[in-house]
Amino acid sequence: MPNIASNLARSARLSPDATAIRYGDRRLGYAELDEAARRFAAGLHARGLQPGDRVAVFAKNGPEYVVTMFGTFAAGMVVVPVNAKLSGSELAVILDDSGAALLVHDDAGAGVVQEAATAVPRLRIGAEYDSWMDSLTPLDRPVDVAPEAVAWLFYTSGTTGRPKGAELTHRNLLAMTWLELADVCDYRRDDRALHIAPLSHGSGLYLLGALTRGAENLIYDKPSFDAADVLRLIERERVTVLAFVAPTMIVMLLDADAAAPADTSSLRRAVYGGAPIHLEHARRMVERFGNVFVQIYGQGESPMTITYLNLAHGPADDEMLLSAGFAHPGVEVAVLDEHDRPVPVGETGEICVRGDTVMRGYRNSPEATATTLRGGWLHTGDIGRLDEQGRLTLLDRSKDVIISGGTNIYPREVEDALLAHPDVDEVVVFGEPDALWGESVTAAVVRRPGSAVDEADLVEWCRRRIASFKKPKRVVFCDSLPTNAYGKVLRREIRAHLIEMNA
Ligand code: AMP
Repeated sequence: MPNIASNLARSARLSPDATAIRYGDRRLGYAELDEAARRFAAGLHARGLQPGDRVAVFAKNGPEYVVTMFGTFAAGMVVVPVNAKLSGSELAVILDDSGAALLVHDDAGAGVVQEAATAVPRLRIGAEYDSWMDSLTPLDRPVDVAPEAVAWLFYTSGTTGRPKGAELTHRNLLAMTWLELADVCDYRRDDRALHIAPLSHGSGLYLLGALTRGAENLIYDKPSFDAADVLRLIERERVTVLAFVAPTMIVMLLDADAAAPADTSSLRRAVYGGAPIHLEHARRMVERFGNVFVQIYGQGESPMTITYLNLAHGPADDEMLLSAGFAHPGVEVAVLDEHDRPVPVGETGEICVRGDTVMRGYRNSPEATATTLRGGWLHTGDIGRLDEQGRLTLLDRSKDVIISGGTNIYPREVEDALLAHPDVDEVVVFGEPDALWGESVTAAVVRRPGSAVDEADLVEWCRRRIASFKKPKRVVFCDSLPTNAYGKVLRREIRAHLIEMNA
């Protein structure tokens, strides 16, 4: 079948001079980007790499990320995107498991690469990368691939144990791209999309849709997310699409906008997801930015594509805002019990998925693959329920559910109750070991600046809103909540830290 990189080659033929990528002062046209990718592919062949070989990328966002990604696809090889915030030993585990034949890294990652003490040949972005590229003659076209050939080997965050590499094929990426274009963002040539999140995650894959349709892609060039700066950028550049933002980024954008309002009227679409959004935040975002939002629910094993919620059609009630929307056509979602039987409508169970976006399996892990894909369904590890119409509401990761006195408590429900309090800015809820109850509910809360709300106030607030057994037994106040590179609040890390401090 055609290589996923041929989507870029096609755009280059249709609009060679249009801008494909901008990064600070740098600009790459479509023909230029496509040529660079084919050049990179030729370089991989010249180094003796074979189709199916793995090329790891350990770099911050930038144009070379995109060239390396499409060049590796074009050569029929596998991109192994590595989160640029990992440590040397974490990087070493991924290089080892993936059996990478080449590691492309940037200056910022050079120290960590040194720490990883790897024998994998390296290519450093900058002068070395540029002169190597200059010496090459581009491939004529991306090589043909088998539909099941792996293109993207994504190591899951791996909060417990060794990270596992989800093998995503050309067929998976093509299916993901069509569903992105059909249901999430109908990219056009006159769009200017802003990409903020790390390209090593779903955001990188989301470039596929935009580049397939010939849009201009502005890659955020600051070392970390600065909400006020992003708002100014949207205003100045008349950005039309916010390609993908995590809910925490939306909260920061709302706060920055409240302090110094920006003109964001150019935005026609903003995609969010990757973590639950709380009702208060969802309400505020729609009120402020209008009907531009589409939420996506996915995971590394079915990238960016399980369900979606299009809020662009008009006002949504609270239940809708709290849901993750509906399965994409061609993607089937079921809620199964512990024996893999479907639960009745409205009841909770594990969210399971099948369709062309679901990974081939985990590399080197036949057992984990067999367990996760048993019965032909991807078992997501997420807990949720479906309503009559097929609308999915996610409750929590199964590992995050608090079991107190034998009853399940979903942290998200307690978090929503607390966030409705005017003095609560951010919150994360988790279970702490409890001799009597098994686990008890604890909330870590960031107060609004200047607020003096205390533990008793918040417990009482919850008692009036949710069942009493769900109210927090303990409230801890913090200055901020730590998030990972993708903007997800690190619930398990906060829990471990507070339990340790309390011990
Ligand atoms: P990752 O594999 O790192 O992309 O993480 C995927 C996990 O993030 C999912 O299994 C969910 O637990 C969570 N997640 C992704 N999208 C959403 C969403 N829209 N709402 C709630 N949780 C989400």
